[in-house]
Amino acid sequence: RNIVIILGFSCLMAVIALITVGLTQNQPSPHNVKYGVVLDAGSSHTTVYIYMWPAEKENDTGVVSQIGECMVQGPGISKFANKVSELSNYLPECMQKAKEMIPVAQHQQTPVYLGATAGMRLLRLENENLADDVLEEVTESLRSFPFDFQGARIISGKEEGAYGWITINYLMGKFTKKLRWLYPLGNESNSQETYGALDLGGASTQITFVPGNQTIESSENALYFRLYGKDYNVYTHSFLCYGKDQALLKKLIKDTQVSNGTIYDPCFNLGYSRVMNISDLTNSPCTKTYKTTLPFLQLKIHGTGNYQQCQESVFRLFDNSDCPYSHCAFDKVFLPQPQGQFGAFSAYYYVMDFLNLTSEEHLSQEDITDRMENFCSRPWKDLKTQFGDVKEKYLSEYCFSGTYIITLLFGGYHFTPDSWKDIHFMEEIRHTDVGWTLGYMLNLTNMIPAEQPVSKPLSHS
Ligand code: AMP
Repeated sequence: RNIVIILGFSCLMAVIALITVGLTQNQPSPHNVKYGVVLDAGSSHTTVYIYMWPAEKENDTGVVSQIGECMVQGPGISKFANKVSELSNYLPECMQKAKEMIPVAQHQQTPVYLGATAGMRLLRLENENLADDVLEEVTESLRSFPFDFQGARIISGKEEGAYGWITINYLMGKFTKKLRWLYPLGNESNSQETYGALDLGGASTQITFVPGNQTIESSENALYFRLYGKDYNVYTHSFLCYGKDQALLKKLIKDTQVSNGTIYDPCFNLGYSRVMNISDLTNSPCTKTYKTTLPFLQLKIHGTGNYQQCQESVFRLFDNSDCPYSHCAFDKVFLPQPQGQFGAFSAYYYVMDFLNLTSEEHLSQEDITDRMENFCSRPWKDLKTQFGDVKEKYLSEYCFSGTYIITLLFGGYHFTPDSWKDIHFMEEIRHTDVGWTLGYMLNLTNMIPAEQPVSKPLSHS
């Protein structure tokens, strides 16, 4: 019965989406539908998300759905710091798509938000004026579209964690009973327990969950929400410089300190080699603690493809000494014991999906180790032949990225072989991407009430 209901619901959503997309700019728009646009300005790229919801039902959970997504061509906005004028050509292609998807009559009422994450947090640490220039330039670009532009800003790591948690629990129907019938009975996703959120970007990573009856020992990690009449005490932390790209830079600069300009790296496949400018390793605030004046200008990397050795070198990125609390993650940051089910999204999903490690069947720690050993030990030229269509940067880094994810979850956050089964790698729920953007929009449009809305009596109006 549930499957029939799910199929029914999916068809209904598909019909709504088709009607919306099918509306041409000259046709009247249904006034009972609203739209919103959020730009996720990440460290490596920007994505534009377009959402839609029925106007009279906006305070019900689960009614907002994503009707479009557009990946902006080019790198993240922080990479334009020294060439801000080029930003004027950056957003128009995707914003034009948003214009086409949203009926003209609705453009003026459609809010548009841009939130920049850790790439811009790092640029602000390096040079606040340059970060302001970048934000001013994207603001100017977004003002030129006919929407209700609400501003471009750098969101904090705490907000990023909080909104990711809100998104996943909103989409899972955890905030009210109404949506739980969508999920199969007897499944843990049918319970009232919220899901924790694990988010991995290029420059930072967030962990957010309700720690049950464990005390949140550090106030900077505590979030409190009252949503639909229920209180939530939530733990969150954003680890700046522990996104997968910055973590790789840290590992490389660390290994460079004891090299003569050439390193043999177990995190890259055998036969792979790369040359990097030392300045590209040292111009991030994340690598400032290492010696940056070195007697060579370039680093040569040769892969040796060894998972165990890669894991040992990645593990050394986490400082596990001297925890001032009852439990720590690493680097003296308080972390309660992970509790309940978790959704792991963004780069957690991209990497684990590629490595075939997202299976809902229980993979033992041995299975994971076997698969990673096997992948890392494959010669680079075989990988290139088999996955010729995968972007070379991603393909060359999957051994490192997979090892980093496993080491972060087990060694950094202290998941156990048993609690590993509670981690669900996911990209989307009900055709809507899991990430901070939906939660951000729900909050800014006041779509999540603190108290349960009183149900309206039936009327004929
Ligand atoms: P951000 O741009 O900060 O949101 O970070 C996204 C991270 O995911 C970056 O490290 C990207 O390189 C990475 N990424 C995006 N797509 C893929 C993919 N298909 N495979 C592997 N990594 C990816």
